Amino acid sequence: MLKSLINLFFPTVCAACKSFILSNENIICTICRHELPLTNHHLNPENEAFKKFYGRIPVEHASALLYFHKKGMVQELIHNLKYKGHEEIGAVLGEWYAEDLKNSGILNNVDAIIPVPLHKKRLKERGYNQVTKFGMALSDNFNIPLNTKILIRNVYSKTQSKKNLLGRSEGIESVFDVAFSEKDYNKHFLLIDDVLTTGSTLEACSKALLKIPGAKISIVCMAMAHS
Ligand SMILES: [Zn+2]
Repeated sequence: MLKSLINLFFPTVCAACKSFILSNENIICTICRHELPLTNHHLNPENEAFKKFYGRIPVEHASALLYFHKKGMVQELIHNLKYKGHEEIGAVLGEWYAEDLKNSGILNNVDAIIPVPLHKKRLKERGYNQVTKFGMALSDNFNIPLNTKILIRNVYSKTQSKKNLLGRSEGIESVFDVAFSEKDYNKHFLLIDDVLTTGSTLEACSKALLKIPGAKISIVCMAMAHS
C-alpha cells in the first residue's frame, strides 16, 4: 500500500529502458527482461568469453550474462549501476545469473568469489564497488564466501576506463596485488566484473591470484562487449 502510494508520486523507471515500472516489477521491467540480449554462455563451455583468455591465462570457466552494445539497453543498465548510484542493479543481475548458473554446475567447485577491486580512492568517490552486490547475490545462492580482501588494486588512475576501451594492457599487471596466507592455497577463485571488453583487467587480476600456490581461476561477468 505504502509502496503503491510512493510509486504514484515518485514513479520509478526501468533501469534499462526508462519506462515506468509496475509495482510487481523489480528494477528492470518485464519487457526488458525478455528483450535483454542473453549470451547463453553457460550452455557452452567453449564460449566466446572463455576463448578470450586462450593463450593468456589458464581459466576453468568464463561467461557473461548479457551482450553489451554501445548505446544499447545493457549499456544503460551498466551506466546506471556504475555512475548513477543504482547499486541494486547488480543484485538483480546476480539473482538472474544464479538461476542459469545453478543448472549448469559451473560454480560447483568454487571456493571464493572475488570482485575486481576498485582502488580505495575510487571506492570512496563512488561509495560502492559496482560488482559487490552481483557477487553477494551469487554468494547467497551458492553458499560461497565473497572475498574482498585478497585482491588489491594499487594504482589509482583517472583515465582508467579510457585505457580499457583502447585495449591498453601494458603496465596493468602491476596494478593488482594479492594478500594471502597458507589457508588460501589450492583454492578455486571466481573473479567477477561488470563488462568484459579486452579482458586485460581480468587477465591482470588472474595473474595476481595465480601467484597463490595451487590457485584455479574462473570468470563471470554481467556483460560482454559485442560488436
Ligand atoms: Zn525496461
